[in-house]
This record gives sequence, C-alpha cells and structure tokens, in this order.
Amino acid sequence: MKADIHPKYTTDAKFTCSCGAVYTIGSTKEAVSIEICSQCHPFYTGNEKILDAAGRVEKFKARQASAAAVVAAKKAPKAPVKATPAKEASEKATPAKAKTSKK
Ligand SMILES: [Zn+2]
Repeated sequence: MKADIHPKYTTDAKFTCSCGAVYTIGSTKEAVSIEICSQCHPFYTGNEKILDAAGRVEKFKARQASAAAVVAAKKAPKAPVKATPAKEASEKATPAKAKTSKK
C-alpha cells in the first residue's frame, strides 16, 4: 500500500439507524446515520410499514369505500328515493342520460 493516500479504517464505527438501533461496524467513517436496518425493515420484521406523505393510501381507501358503497347500492333492492342522498342519485342519473342520448 502506498503511504498517506488511504483513508483511515476503524473497526468501531457507529452506524445509527433512524429506529434507534446502533451498530458497530468497520468503516472509514466514524459515525453514519442510516434510514433503515434489519431491526426495522419490513422484510425482517414482517410488519407492514408505509411511508406515505401525500395521503395516497387514505385517498385510495376512500375511493375503495365509495366504490364498495356503489356496488352495495346496486346489489341491494331499490330503496325509496328519499333514502338515497342527492349526490348519489345525480351520479346515477347522469350515466343513464348519457346512454340514452347516444342511442
Ligand atoms: Zn432500523
């Protein structure tokens, strides 16, 4: 090895995970912060972990719930007109009008 060109290697570098786990590993750096490790990664823990900043999961679940409500409404016997909300009634009425206008 050529002298004075290689980084100093230490065997007690502290790798700190965002979950709080600390590992002592050999490295050229003394301290490194990591985002995920075997203590908190879903592959090892078996727990589902979703990093969702934009609320996409909530939007998807809301859409799923509304779709299930529509399916349930279609399957259920016809309820009186007063029981259905005005919004759903208008949504149902619009496609029917579109179909009749095309024919
Ligand atoms: Zn971790």
